[in-house]
Formats: sequence, C-alpha cells, structure tokens
Amino acid sequence: MTQTEPAKTARDAAEPSTCIICRGTNFRFAGTSHGYRIFHCEGCGFHFVHPTPPLDEIAAIYEKYSSNTLYSAKADRKVQRAMKQIKRYRRLAKGPRFIDFGCNIGTAVEAAHRLGFEAYGVDIDEESVGIARKQYPSGRYHAGPVESLPEDWKDFDFAFMIEVIEHLPDPHAYFEAMRGRLKPGALLYLTTPDAGHWRVPRDFTAWKEVFPPQHLHYFTRKAMRRFLTDHGFEVIRFIWSPKSRLKVLARKL
Ligand SMILES: [Zn+2]
Repeated sequence: MTQTEPAKTARDAAEPSTCIICRGTNFRFAGTSHGYRIFHCEGCGFHFVHPTPPLDEIAAIYEKYSSNTLYSAKADRKVQRAMKQIKRYRRLAKGPRFIDFGCNIGTAVEAAHRLGFEAYGVDIDEESVGIARKQYPSGRYHAGPVESLPEDWKDFDFAFMIEVIEHLPDPHAYFEAMRGRLKPGALLYLTTPDAGHWRVPRDFTAWKEVFPPQHLHYFTRKAMRRFLTDHGFEVIRFIWSPKSRLKVLARKL
C-alpha cells in the first residue's frame, strides 16, 4: 500500500455540507469522474467536485496539459470571434477600459484593442501571458492571480471572463478580487459550461464538459444568477446557446 491511499480513501468518503452557491443542504451524488466525486445541489442545480482537490494537485494537471499551443494555432480565428462578441455588447459598456480575466494568449485583449478599447489581460499561466506579450503587444498583461494585479489596474468598464469560473478552486474569492477592479455600472460578459442545458446527458458524468480537476464547478442559470447577485452584480440577460454554454451579461451595481 502506498502512502497516499489512506488519505484518498478519507477524502472520497467526505460528503458536502453546504452548497457554496445557494447555502442549500440537499445533495445528490452525481457520479465519479477521473477519480473525483461530483455532487448536485437540489436547491440551485449547481454541480461540483467534492472535496475540492488540493491546489498542488490542480497545478500539476495544468503543467501536464498546457493547451496554449493549440490555442496559438487558432489564434487569428479567436481574435475575429472575440471582435464579434465585443462588437455585439460594447454599446452597453460605459467607457473605454476593457479587461479579460483569464486572457490566455491575449486574443480577446487584441480584439478589444482593435475596436478602440484600452485593453488589459490577466492570466495565472505565465507561459500564455508570455505569448500574449509577444504576439499582441498593444495590450497590457499581467501574469498571476487576480489578487496580485497592479494597483492602477482598476476602474474597468467592460470585463470578459470566458470559460474561467469552472476552473477556479474558490470562485467567491476570485469574484471579490475581480469586483474591486471594476467601475460601478461596469459590464461583465461571462461564459461557462451550462449544467442546466438540454444537451447535458442524464448521466451527468458522461457530459463532455465534466473533466475534473480542470473543471470543478458546473453552473446552471439559477446558480449563476444567485452567485452574481450575491457578488453585487445584476444579470442583464442570459444569451441562448445551441451548445451547452451558459452565457451571461451582467452589470456591477
Ligand atoms: Zn445550491
């Protein structure tokens, strides 16, 4: 028997006590994926990996599966797609300062710059930010956690957060830090897999978006509305998606 086995057994036996989104206490076990247990909150439909894996375990996975080479190859198409998204919503933004939380190699930052925004991007992955700096030098970039942003990175009018929240071990902490960087009235465009989408299979773990420990949290519209409201955002609207994507526009109150 190896040393890690007893710990893993203890971890596997742990049951969730309170939903981190709605504070509900009724859960259903939704299955096991890649050795991680997933629970479903009956109150808000939120699905989550429980217990949250230790940070070093998550970090090890990201080192193993760095995805930015693939992103790089598709970079120009991604810039074009981000330009379309920004154009669609920019009339709702009240000023020129744009930031992409989880900017990867900077394609949305570049898109915002091309559309006349002062464009900023932050990502935890230094290698991706290195590529962004080289490939799209018009943007300003920061590598590191959102809590470590330079002081003058504030008063943003328009924030992107694309396929980020599902990866965060502590979405509440991230949102508190992020919120402080936005102007009152700032626009937020967020996307994440939609656990309440009609395309999600009855066997939740068979859904292609379920791959812990990269994806730890799976929101429904109800859970997202509750989460955003609790963090001082007002949902403007959810945007319909034919894929199992939850897309939301919100405003900081
Ligand atoms: Zn809940």
